Amino acid sequence: ETLKPVVGRYAPSPTGRLHLGNARTGLLAWLSARAAGGRFVMRVEDLDPQRSKRAHEQRQLDDLRWLGLDWDEGPDVGGPHGPYRQSERGEHYEEALARLDTFACTCTRRELREAREAHDAVSAPHGAEPVYPGTCRDGPTHPERPAARRWRVPAGEVWFDDRIAGRRRQNVAREVGDFVLRRADRAWAYQLAVVVDDAAMGVTEIVRGADLLDSSPRQILLQRSLGLPTPTYAHVPLIVGPDGGKLNKRHGAPDLSALREAGVDPRRVVAALARSAGLLGDEDAWVHPRELIRAFDPARIAREPSTLELDTLIP
Ligand code: GLU
Ligand code: ZN
Repeated sequence: ETLKPVVGRYAPSPTGRLHLGNARTGLLAWLSARAAGGRFVMRVEDLDPQRSKRAHEQRQLDDLRWLGLDWDEGPDVGGPHGPYRQSERGEHYEEALARLDTFACTCTRRELREAREAHDAVSAPHGAEPVYPGTCRDGPTHPERPAARRWRVPAGEVWFDDRIAGRRRQNVAREVGDFVLRRADRAWAYQLAVVVDDAAMGVTEIVRGADLLDSSPRQILLQRSLGLPTPTYAHVPLIVGPDGGKLNKRHGAPDLSALREAGVDPRRVVAALARSAGLLGDEDAWVHPRELIRAFDPARIAREPSTLELDTLIP
């Protein structure tokens, strides 16, 4: 059996500044690919037309290069599998959508939430997407409204072995329901775009934040229905602040650009990120990403949310 060459990727959304958690995920994705002698693809996930900005994209790519990361294909490098901005890849999503069994849905978020609450007699957790109750499966309830396209999700359980989180199972039909592939405002859903793009770009391994762990079964089901290969998955735990919540500005955590503009040595930042991921001991205060490649061992990546020593970063 011949081993497929490794292709990793990092797929930031250009909706704001990169924070330390994003940077750590990017670093780990890069390390994993480079340690396997693989290629690395940078993909800009600018599907949300309101929130995505070219200026954010530029800043994010500058920040990642400043950290010491590089990529073989991307929006600013080109490459054979582009374009590398999702906003420019609509025809590929269109083609995939046409091959799937979808239906028009005119339900609003609010109607779905109310239907769910009436059914469960409890309020759904705030922010959580309610399970789709199947309202429009036999035809849209409000044909005069613009319609989203939902996928008729195949029944059954999906499982996969995450390199960090271990075996995960989900019955997508029951726990998520028929999900949206194209929104009523014509914007493409992340779930479809990511599956189409990872396959088109030959991605063999996905390293990303643990907040996307529950999306993987949906993506695996889509891959199977489209006849696309399933990459390996490693979902990296979040960085938390001293109060146990996801690290953010509230904790006084500077974003990457702020560190760059303050003249902080990027090798200090890389060392702090690597230490918080469990890849570096206390003795090294400075490290270039390249110096981490040889000893990189995914089995050493911290499995629990970890903290980050901010005081070593602030000049
Ligand atoms: N664009 C997503 C984000 O920034 C990442 C998607 C992925 O890695 O699959 O959270
Ligand atoms: Zn509906």
